[in-house]
Amino acid sequence: MAEAHEKALIDPLTQVFNRNKFTLALEAEIAKNAENYQPLTLIMLDIDWFKKVNDTYGHDVGDEVLIEFANIIKNTIGYNQLLARYGGEEFIIALHHTNPSNALNIAEKCRLAIENIQVNIRDQQTIKVTASFGVDFSSHNKTLEQTIRNADDALYISKQSGRNQVKIFENRE
Ligand code: GH3
Ligand code: MG
Ligand code: MG
Repeated sequence: MAEAHEKALIDPLTQVFNRNKFTLALEAEIAKNAENYQPLTLIMLDIDWFKKVNDTYGHDVGDEVLIEFANIIKNTIGYNQLLARYGGEEFIIALHHTNPSNALNIAEKCRLAIENIQVNIRDQQTIKVTASFGVDFSSHNKTLEQTIRNADDALYISKQSGRNQVKIFENRE
């Protein structure tokens, strides 16, 4: 039972949390800190042109890229931060105890680390990938869902602006 429960919370391919676990973990944290609000930075990131990787090199190579991608991000953000696979080739990061400029530095560090990924395939060929990032900062008058939506909006702008970049959510109302 315990093992089945654990499996429902971990992505079997990359071994990072899945979306469900991410939301549960953050909600529990927010409830625990209700008296003493701790701001978070949420970062949504999505691999650029990933369909092309699958189409060109096959799904297994795509899987390898995803595993490598998750490992690089995990190592770059540090062990006390939260990373989850949000779906497909989209991931989400929650950074604790960082101010906005510090958080943006970490996002930029992740972007560069991804640029440096080299997955080796047959015939000494290597694959290179990039990812686009969207960032929003939590606050007490915003729900977690809203912050995630905002980060996703910023990610969309990042894709529209040419990919391989970090964009911060801007309220355009
Ligand atoms: P964009 O830069 O706009 O994000 O382009 P994209 O090609 O990355 O985006 P799109 O949404 O068109 O394609 C995402 C691809 O990710 C399609 C899907 O097959 C692939 N994918 C999702 N999950 C997995 C997986 O677990 N393994 C592999 N190999 N591919 C996956
Ligand atoms: Mg993509
Ligand atoms: Mg995607």
